[in-house]
Amino acid sequence: MTLPQFPREPVRPDLEGVEKDRELWTPRWKCFCCHDSGLVNLSLIKLVIPDYNLHRDKFVVCQNRHCEAGADYRHDPNYDQRFTVGICMELDKRNREDWHRTVESHFKTIQNRVADASRKVSLRKCDRTSDEELVAIGRHESACNADPEKLEEAEADLELEDECEEKAYHGEF
Ligand SMILES: [Zn+2]
Repeated sequence: MTLPQFPREPVRPDLEGVEKDRELWTPRWKCFCCHDSGLVNLSLIKLVIPDYNLHRDKFVVCQNRHCEAGADYRHDPNYDQRFTVGICMELDKRNREDWHRTVESHFKTIQNRVADASRKVSLRKCDRTSDEELVAIGRHESACNADPEKLEEAEADLELEDECEEKAYHGEF
């Protein structure tokens, strides 16, 4: 038998066409406790049941206030019903904050990359090449290591030059 080909069935049809235009993807779940699935997110379950075993333990039902997805599983004994409204609200809050931080740090990373890229461009325009840098370092070192007497001579020469320039300025030559 040839299998039929179905079109996609998005969970949030209202977001279709919106996500792909966003530069930074940010979640648009109504409920951050279960990501609109009705069952509490695994990483959040582990905040309350640290040794939770995904393969052996019951799925945990989301009891978050106004979470319609969770309503489908409530009162079903095949699911873990122990999470209270308060627990799910707290998990929702924490997950929201985590996402906020994630998106913010992602945004900063992008900003830094842009800043680095433009800095590299401007460095190429005006900074010394590494060869020029070596010559400059060499000059600085030889100046630092110079014999003090020679330095004095050099300074005397400089002063003489200054004097000459001054006299030239006043028309004495
Ligand atoms: Zn929920």
